[in-house]
This record gives sequence, C-alpha cells and structure tokens, in this order.
Amino acid sequence: MLESKRTPILPAPRPQKKYEVIIDSEQCDGCKICVEFCPKEILKESEETNSRMLHYIEIVNPEECLGCKQCERLCPTTSIFINETDLQEVASNES
Ligand code: SF4
Ligand code: SF4
Repeated sequence: MLESKRTPILPAPRPQKKYEVIIDSEQCDGCKICVEFCPKEILKESEETNSRMLHYIEIVNPEECLGCKQCERLCPTTSIFINETDLQEVASNES
C-alpha cells in the first residue's frame, strides 16, 4: 500500500473562543425547541422541575458547545444564553 508523504502545511487551528451555556431554569418552559435544534445534542430535559412544575433544560458536555447560538435565537422565553470568551484576549491579558 502507498504511504502518503504529505504533511500539513499549517498546524491544526486551535479554538479561539470558549462558550458557556447559561440557562435560567425558572424562566424555562421546557418546550425543548433548543434540544431539537442543538447540533451537538448537548441539551436535555431535566428530571427536576422548577417552581412552576416544568421540566427545565440542562446541559450535558458543555465543552462541546459550538457557539452557534441556535438555542439562544430560538428560545421563545429568552431563557438560554451563550456567553462567549475570547481566548486570545484572555491570554494577552494574562501575559
Ligand atoms: S450554541 Fe449551538 S451548540 Fe451551543 S448549546 Fe446552543 S445550539 Fe447547542
Ligand atoms: S427553548 Fe427556551 S424555554 Fe424552551 S426548553 Fe429551551 S431554554 Fe427552555
């Protein structure tokens, strides 16, 4: 079998941003629109209920978030937000 001698010209891109998913569990109606549209399938219905006896949304594997903000845009109750941190800015502030 032929073995490729090609090597990548550029190093693999490193993530530039970090995304934090914030959910207001009291405000969430549990409609699951965000669950349906999250491309990484990192949102799920909780076992627990909020004070209105509604199953709010929880995050599984938050580090997998792409920052696409589909959830934020589609939520009818504005209960989910994506907090974006620029890793390059964090690094330059630390140095
Ligand atoms: S920003 Fe995109 S990937 Fe992240 S939780 Fe929302 S829908 Fe999912
Ligand atoms: S779309 Fe909004 S209200 Fe509906 S389950 Fe997701 S966070 Fe809750």
